[in-house]
Amino acid sequence: MINITLPDGSSRQYEKGTTAHQIALSISEGLARNVLAAEVNGEIWDSSRAIEADATVKLLTWNDTAGKATFWHSSAHLMAEALEALYPGTKFGIGPAIETGFYYDVDFGEREFSSDDFKAIETKMLELAKQKEEFSRKSVSKADAIKYFTEKGDEYKLDLLQGLDDGKITFYTQGEFTDLCRGPHIPNTGFIKAIKLMNVAGAYWRGDETKKQLTRIYGVTFPKASELTEYLLMIEEAKKRDHRKLGKELELFMFSEKVGAGLPMWLPKGTALRERLAQFLTKAQVKSGYEQVVTPHIGHKNLYVTSGHYEKYGKDSFQPIKTPQEGEEFFLKPMNCPHHCEMYKFKPRSYKDLPVRFAEFGTVYRYEQSGELHGLTRVRGFTQDDAHLFCRPDQVKEEFKKVIDLVLYVFKSLGFDNYIAQISLRDPENKAKYIGSDENWKLAETAIIEAAEEMGLPTVVELGEAAFYGPKLDFMVKDALGRKWQLGTIQVDYNLPERFELEYTGSDNLKHRPVMIHRAPFGSLERFVAVLIEHCAGNFPLWLSPEQYIILPISEKYEEYAKRKENQRC
Ligand SMILES: [Zn+2]
Ligand SMILES: [Zn+2]
Repeated sequence: MINITLPDGSSRQYEKGTTAHQIALSISEGLARNVLAAEVNGEIWDSSRAIEADATVKLLTWNDTAGKATFWHSSAHLMAEALEALYPGTKFGIGPAIETGFYYDVDFGEREFSSDDFKAIETKMLELAKQKEEFSRKSVSKADAIKYFTEKGDEYKLDLLQGLDDGKITFYTQGEFTDLCRGPHIPNTGFIKAIKLMNVAGAYWRGDETKKQLTRIYGVTFPKASELTEYLLMIEEAKKRDHRKLGKELELFMFSEKVGAGLPMWLPKGTALRERLAQFLTKAQVKSGYEQVVTPHIGHKNLYVTSGHYEKYGKDSFQPIKTPQEGEEFFLKPMNCPHHCEMYKFKPRSYKDLPVRFAEFGTVYRYEQSGELHGLTRVRGFTQDDAHLFCRPDQVKEEFKKVIDLVLYVFKSLGFDNYIAQISLRDPENKAKYIGSDENWKLAETAIIEAAEEMGLPTVVELGEAAFYGPKLDFMVKDALGRKWQLGTIQVDYNLPERFELEYTGSDNLKHRPVMIHRAPFGSLERFVAVLIEHCAGNFPLWLSPEQYIILPISEKYEEYAKRKENQRC
């Protein structure tokens, strides 16, 4: 017998070699019908795989992210099976699950392919799904795997096999189709009830433009037909709410090729909206003890040598600005922190002066690849609602709580009521890669966790996701269409105070390093406005709306009166 521990902490005895499916059956038949895969000691397994020793097991259904991913990845196999049946000789690259759905990169050889072929493939997939073909797993030797794909003539699978170790290679077969895959998969194709191919695009093999371009087919599948209908409605709604479309219709912002790609320009109505947002936040920040500051758009090379950013300016970012002075270089600022560090040093600080909180709507510039640019969400110039808090180590928790409070106030005022906080901590197995003392890390991590707890935030903790210079907390927000956005970051930093040699005099009369906290509730005004437009479909709350009233005389007689009222507005 073996011991199986379930997520609720309970543990049960099963025969050695039991499967996740059998465990589910022992709980209820309904559950067993819905189990797609299982997490066994932290690894995702087929629900039909034998468990040979004591283990912690979590049964995965459609409600789990990993369950969905398994479902969608299995759907990629199903699509490949359909493609092979319809177009013999098709070769296959990779077919992963993505955030919503899956894709498969395929080589059709000489055959022309377009979205006109989707219907036939969907029909074939549904037909194969109805046969409830089991996904069966088989270990194969590297030699046998190479033999199989050589005979099949699939150079892509042979290329993938190059990188795999003998003894760790598995094949999965459903129906007539066999794929090289480490799994896992859902029990059988019958779970897939609704199918929609979404898109076709070109993709270089292994993302390398010197290699052959394959055809990437995107699709999405569901365990219920009604879920597909809902999903397609959501996509339609998202198109209607696209901030690029609404931004134009509402005359909020524009782009011009002549000004430069990724450089948004705010039209009068957009500027009104943006300024209302900025005023709203400034007011809340002043109440919370922040001080507004202004810094220039560029900084001397030396500033970025000190901050450490200089090393990172490669050929892929904005290049230095030269001056008539030989050898002098300036940079467009990619962030406001180095400027604020210098401002902190303006005068000696005592422990009694802390925290010092500098806030700035600081415009920064980062060179995004042109293919990455997207409306207001990926731009090359944007304004952060930035602030830097310089505090004593014993103040970190209190400051965090205050920032959380501010972020929640912003969310509440703007109708974002579905959010979760992601806390990123360091990898406890690999402490060497982080800077700052062990003691300070412990203090900051505990402070963040306790602050989130005391503020009643729903949280997830991610180990190893912290930056090398400090732990952080990010707000993940769901919009009205259920899409996730990362807004609002609070980040502890031990690096910059060290590099800029920031100090304060402690009560012991000795010099100490302050802790720096970076925070931005909106992230950037550009990105936030984009999310806000899509969240409220352009129907802003009245207090934010760029057009808050229209004066409409009910007869010509009142035209003059109306004009007088209009003038009184100013
Ligand atoms: Zn697979
Ligand atoms: Zn910063």
